[in-house]
Amino acid sequence: MRLTDNITILKGIGDKTAGIFRRMGIETVEELLRCYPRDYDRLEEVSRIAELKDGSRVVVRGTICSGVSERKSGRLTISFSQAADDSGKMNLSFFNMPYIKKMLKKGAGYYLRGKVHRRGSSFTMEQPVLLSPAEYEKQRGKLLPVYPLTTGLNQKAVRKAVSQVLAAMEAQNLLPEVLPPRILAEQDLCSASEALFWIHFPEDAEQLLRAKKRLAFEEFLVFLLLVKKMKRSAQAVPNAFPMLETADTVRFLEGLPFRLTEDQRQVWSEISGDLTGEYMMNRLIQGDVGSGKTVLAALALLLAVSNGYQGAMMAPTEVLATQHFQTLRGYTEQYKLPLKPVLLTGSLTAKEKREVYEKIESGECNLIIGTHALIQEKVNYANLALVITDEQHRFGVRQRETFSRKGAGDSGDRMPHVMVMSATPIPRTLAVILYGDMHVSVIRQLPAGRQSIKNCVVGTDWRNRAWKFLEKVTGAGRQAFVVCPMIESSEESDLENVEEYTEKLRGALPERLRIEMLHGKMKPVEKNRLMDAFSAGMIDILVSTTVIEVGINVPNATVMMIENAERFGLAQLHQLRGRVGRGQHQSYCIFINGSDSDRAEERLDVLNHSNDGFYIAEQDLKLRGPGDMFGIRQSGALNFRIADIYQDADMLMLADRVCGQITEDDAWEEKEEYLELAALLARSVRNNIDFPGI
Ligand code: ADP
Ligand code: MG
Repeated sequence: MRLTDNITILKGIGDKTAGIFRRMGIETVEELLRCYPRDYDRLEEVSRIAELKDGSRVVVRGTICSGVSERKSGRLTISFSQAADDSGKMNLSFFNMPYIKKMLKKGAGYYLRGKVHRRGSSFTMEQPVLLSPAEYEKQRGKLLPVYPLTTGLNQKAVRKAVSQVLAAMEAQNLLPEVLPPRILAEQDLCSASEALFWIHFPEDAEQLLRAKKRLAFEEFLVFLLLVKKMKRSAQAVPNAFPMLETADTVRFLEGLPFRLTEDQRQVWSEISGDLTGEYMMNRLIQGDVGSGKTVLAALALLLAVSNGYQGAMMAPTEVLATQHFQTLRGYTEQYKLPLKPVLLTGSLTAKEKREVYEKIESGECNLIIGTHALIQEKVNYANLALVITDEQHRFGVRQRETFSRKGAGDSGDRMPHVMVMSATPIPRTLAVILYGDMHVSVIRQLPAGRQSIKNCVVGTDWRNRAWKFLEKVTGAGRQAFVVCPMIESSEESDLENVEEYTEKLRGALPERLRIEMLHGKMKPVEKNRLMDAFSAGMIDILVSTTVIEVGINVPNATVMMIENAERFGLAQLHQLRGRVGRGQHQSYCIFINGSDSDRAEERLDVLNHSNDGFYIAEQDLKLRGPGDMFGIRQSGALNFRIADIYQDADMLMLADRVCGQITEDDAWEEKEEYLELAALLARSVRNNIDFPGI
């Protein structure tokens, strides 16, 4: 077996299953190996029925003591039975599992695993998983990997496939060690193959922690080396697209219904200073949600266009790109600006795309707004001088680089000015490492006159009252978001999911309310349609995953309710909260804390008391330790594959030091001890293995 082999060489994976894996971006053995678990599951010790606690997830060793009865309501079939141990009896209920009737035999003994709820004086276990005594004994005490899945695939199948690769890895020494032994020893890191064994099947928490540390270190190191390379090539490049201040930007600024804040003015002078200055711009604009970055982007693009160039702006989602397009088209019409904007996204038809390409190439359009469709091979720009990426933490280094290579000039050898905007406040200590190759501007201040958002952190027992509140607010004509961490229900997770939640909410609230759901597995056209409908006020409550976290601006939405808030990073929760409080109405954010740990309480309390993104990010860093293995990944922000800039901040700093040592010697890539590392770096560049990072 080789790392580059297709996964069909594994037992149990035929063309059909391979097709399902492909949907998750997994085709080769290596990609499977690098599909890390998103969580780990451990079977609970056996509980006695007399000692059950409401709402807990337990294992009961019970004997089935009644036949199975069924009840149908609509498309739902619920099957009921009962199990007993020597301390008492509990009820069992199964949803849409009609075959359970044949399977469950009165008198048979099982280990039953599931969440129990008290109803009156007795407990009901919902949707129990049944394990034979042998299965229970085998899995007991172990940490079982829980993988991200897609329809048609279950945990068992992925575990089996991964185990096969790990077995081959052991037998054939499949995986090269990229880090030199010296570094492994100095930093007390485990080897590459140990790390992979332990990340998939750790014996205990300590192994898992060691694996995570090693993999995070490696990921950071490779990333930092890449940034270093870019930095070297980007340093002090003479300004190939020099610009002059024009009357258009002044007129636009004077026409705006508001005055720029002090911070905005400062940042605008930095931007225009770059564009009109001696060197190419390579600047990151960090500004808290709602601090008004879009208008700065508009100014920069206007300056480029007034100087006779093209400007482009790239957003991570179609929804956001469309919104920017509408904003900029609005400005163009209202202030009679010389902009000729065009929108380029993946959902255009082939014919529409060709027309847009034409207009870009001929220079007929001078402002191009879109998603990553903007950097596809077929797009040739006439004279692109400035590219802005919004919410850039969603783009990888590679994408950023490709985009900047789209520069004007016949051979594309003149890279355009680069400006990136991010609403993810990153603590200064980390920012200087992660954005080592860029100048950083910061907007801390929010425009005056914003009403501050009212926050509350509550337990799940408060949910019904929160729903009543949604009913009241939407009744008054406002709109609301509800965010759940999961898309659909799954065996391993008690977390709220969008699909079931939408149903529950429709059942609980009056029929006149229009409640829809939105999540990342939907087609882009569908997502756009829903977002448009929500923006237009045709939907009252949108139940969604975190896909709505970036950039969206719907001023009439005044409530953000977040389920399982304990599962998100603070910075991410702050982003989500930023979706409300954008209009003239009082806005609210309800964080539902689904855990009873004090730590969760303490973390969420930070949000309750502050609306300052930078302060929140610092606290997030402080309140998380490396011991937080099952902790929260900041899924929206700086999305590395396994590393988390907050949780693994120690590894980031270490990788930064080591990167510094390695690159002290310009010719490090030729040294024997770094050959494997250099090869990995070259591979990631060539194969476009992106760091969803930065
Ligand atoms: P973000 O920085 O999160 O991208 P936006 O650019 O979407 O924020 O701005 C949020 C809202 O604030 C927009 O409606 C914008 O027109 C408005 N805005 C921007 N700057 C100011 C300002 N100086 N005073 C008042 N409102 C402003
Ligand atoms: Mg924005």
